[in-house]
Amino acid sequence: MCGIVAYIGKQDAYPILIKGLKRLEYRGYDSSGVSVLNGDLQIFKKKGKVKDLVDHVGNHRVKGTVGIGHTRWATHGKPNDINAHPHVSGNKRLSLIHNGIIENYQPLKEALIKLGHTFESDTDTEVLTHLIEEIQTRDDLPIDEAVRIALTKVIGAYAIVVLDKENPDILVAARKASPLVIGIGRDEFFVASDASPIIEHTKKVVYLNDEEIAVVKRDGTLSIKNIDNQIQNPFIEELDLKLDAIEKGDFDSFMLKEIYEQPESILDCMRGRINAEEGWIKVGGVETKMEEFLNAKRIIIAACGTSWIAGLIGEYLFEELARISVEVEYASELRYRNPIIEEGDIVIALSQSGETADTLAALHLAKDKNALLYGIVNVVGSSIARLTDTGSYIHAGPEIGVASTKAFTGQVTLLTMLAIYLGYEKGRIPRPYYAQLLRELENIPSKVKRILEKDDHIKYIASEIKDATNALYLGRGYNFPVALEGALKLKEISYIHAEGYPAAEMKHGPIALIDENMPVVVIATNMSAHDKIVSNIQEVKARKGVVIAIINEGDNVIKEIADYVIEIPATDEPLTPLLSVVPLQLLSYHIAIMRGCNVDQPRNLAKSVTVE
Ligand code: GLU
Repeated sequence: MCGIVAYIGKQDAYPILIKGLKRLEYRGYDSSGVSVLNGDLQIFKKKGKVKDLVDHVGNHRVKGTVGIGHTRWATHGKPNDINAHPHVSGNKRLSLIHNGIIENYQPLKEALIKLGHTFESDTDTEVLTHLIEEIQTRDDLPIDEAVRIALTKVIGAYAIVVLDKENPDILVAARKASPLVIGIGRDEFFVASDASPIIEHTKKVVYLNDEEIAVVKRDGTLSIKNIDNQIQNPFIEELDLKLDAIEKGDFDSFMLKEIYEQPESILDCMRGRINAEEGWIKVGGVETKMEEFLNAKRIIIAACGTSWIAGLIGEYLFEELARISVEVEYASELRYRNPIIEEGDIVIALSQSGETADTLAALHLAKDKNALLYGIVNVVGSSIARLTDTGSYIHAGPEIGVASTKAFTGQVTLLTMLAIYLGYEKGRIPRPYYAQLLRELENIPSKVKRILEKDDHIKYIASEIKDATNALYLGRGYNFPVALEGALKLKEISYIHAEGYPAAEMKHGPIALIDENMPVVVIATNMSAHDKIVSNIQEVKARKGVVIAIINEGDNVIKEIADYVIEIPATDEPLTPLLSVVPLQLLSYHIAIMRGCNVDQPRNLAKSVTVE
């Protein structure tokens, strides 16, 4: 959440900052601001999107070759012009942008007020700015040292960049639990929350580690020390990211582009990991720890949001195919409830960004309890990727739409491969079934493509139910988590209240809600539960509910009783979610568009949840 970008070099900073903010806007978009130094600090801040900031700047010429920019997802204080970043120190010398939360901002603020500081905003960030100022002026310290000492007094999460009016040739950046990457150009530096604002300028980057403070200078030097004042060697990496991966191309939204990328992204996730013809599957991150996986007493999956739902599919897969007991936990709950985690347990963290604050915290806890940590993330080099003992990337490419689509199917693809791999290694999957699963897995991308061809039909169904105020999603077995995901997607982007339920649970409560105004989406592609689902549909129809059924091609039984059907290709049951979720993504997408919603930047949400 929240995007930060900074530049120092020979070029005009302002256009670089604005372009960077537009790329980072998916991380937060309730207000934005820039601060560019040219003798004086020129600061512009505005509630709303980056385009509102640009309108606000209007014809002002914002000159200067060093500057910082921020697009906010508010945690402390309403989204308004005053709370927008950058914040300034009381003496107007320092300007600072921040991603994260300063948890002890209240006592710090009270202490600073006693020392005569006054505050304009409600943010925790402004407190940190004043704290740095206080330390800098009291002891007449260089700015980087003042930042370091201030950070020793802070509890919480931060990625910050500080601009000092009296030091126009340097920027100071630091991080703890919020991401920060430094791009190294020719006598210029870029600092940002992720690589998207950097990629068109340079491919050489350094990912800052927790509790590191970097000083980048206009003369092209970069130095890093940690919070204990020890010099660190920068580890320079080459970015593997293409510009068109972070642009919309011909699509109207990132979300639609990402839905349509799924045949390719699922294939990319499987690339080099499976060969049905030769009859093998392997997942590198697990191969190196095979002994631990084969002897695992238990797998605990920790995740949030859509990743948590992917984790639930993981539970069904691991338990059925590999006979390993699994618990799926909301990371935010796991971290605070003194869970039983022991040596011999494996904790799998699922996170698109690899930066999810709650998931990271749950991992730290599991590490203390000596569990083996395995990360499944999309963003290469992210915090979870670095913290875990082993892991696998899903290789979905950048996901910019806030509502996850291709990252979800990437996570499920990875979990499916893993379950098949472990199940076979454990002797739990007979050879013929193993061979069949591999073949079917390789067929998934082309089957997803066939589902995408039904887009017009799905759009028509969306037009029929778009005015609903509530919706129910039902599924059994592997399709129960898919029902949760369908409901979550609808909530996130169309603001229609939706619930996902195991189909059989409907009669224990939600059935009371059903009437002729209630669309009920039934995911009915898993044949082992077919008869039961038919009964559930009858129960809905008997109460005049409107049934939209996702069925296997040629399922005439359900076609007869449902109001609308979306037919998708059949597959083996454990692979069903990879197909049945796709029409639900499109359904939510079209409903949201028809209701005039911004699908890429839904209200109140942000990508990469780096705060608790
Ligand atoms: N806590 C800060 C604020 O509310 C930063 C939030 C963010 O990461 O955007 O302004």
